[in-house]
Amino acid sequence: MDLCNLSVIRALMAEAGISFRKEFGQNFLTNRLIPEDIADGCADDADRLVIEIGPGIGCLTQELAIRYRRVVAVEIDRGLIPVLEKTLAEYDNVTVINDDIMKIDLAALVERYAEGRPVSVCANLPYYITTPILMRLLESGVRFSTITVMVQNEVAQRLAAKAGSSDYGAITAVLGYYGTVRRLFKVPAGCFIPMPKVDSAVVRIDLFGEPKYKPVDEKLFRELIRAAFEMRRKTLVNAVSAHMPQLTKTKIAEALRAIGKDENIRGEKLSTEEFVLLSNELAK
Ligand code: SAM
Repeated sequence: MDLCNLSVIRALMAEAGISFRKEFGQNFLTNRLIPEDIADGCADDADRLVIEIGPGIGCLTQELAIRYRRVVAVEIDRGLIPVLEKTLAEYDNVTVINDDIMKIDLAALVERYAEGRPVSVCANLPYYITTPILMRLLESGVRFSTITVMVQNEVAQRLAAKAGSSDYGAITAVLGYYGTVRRLFKVPAGCFIPMPKVDSAVVRIDLFGEPKYKPVDEKLFRELIRAAFEMRRKTLVNAVSAHMPQLTKTKIAEALRAIGKDENIRGEKLSTEEFVLLSNELAK
């Protein structure tokens, strides 16, 4: 069954008495090459657990099931569960869970299904909640090896941006703490039903096994990044002192000089490593 075929999608949904739910960001893939390519790019070897977020009617899930040892797909929409039972019936390495990825106990899920193997995440993400989902995965304490997600193209550019570029933002600087990000390929809006307004792209995050940079005070490091990007057009000294009153302009300027940076620099020019160095300097 080609789950990217429009007639198949419509027939399965009509049979289940459901329609696309905008509030769940439902834009299903209609070009079968895309789920194949996403699944190919998701990880380097087969012997792992892959957690899929939002399987929809299961087009990507099938491709993951063929390539990887174990797949657990978490779908929020109860109406899709009977459809998935049908479309995934022949794959005995797939488990579908009806839950919200923002609420599910990820550590318990991994403990139960990974059996000590590496864990990857793969998804055509619901766009209304892209960043919160990514942050939840990264902050969960679970050691994922890769996270491969389709997001809006504009967001993909931001996630994979280099320090100093116009796309570089707080999320880019935070991501650099967890791993390296690559933009794999672009997917035109016409490859989905309903058709979204913008193009999408797939990004893969390869997470560091051990943190590459270690902030002395992680809370301060995160606050510093948030504050630095809160007022993009201001210098880092002005933006940070406005949002973190405990840090005076003089102290921030001194810390910048100590790490070899100009005191008039803007936050978007600092790499993740430099934010770590700066926060360590400020923590002294
Ligand atoms: N994987 C399918 C595909 O590529 O055609 C569907 C992708 S669609 C963009 C996003 C999917 O995520 C939908 O099935 C939607 O119901 C589901 N979803 C939305 N919010 C969710 C959440 N918080 N937890 C789990 N699934 C969610």
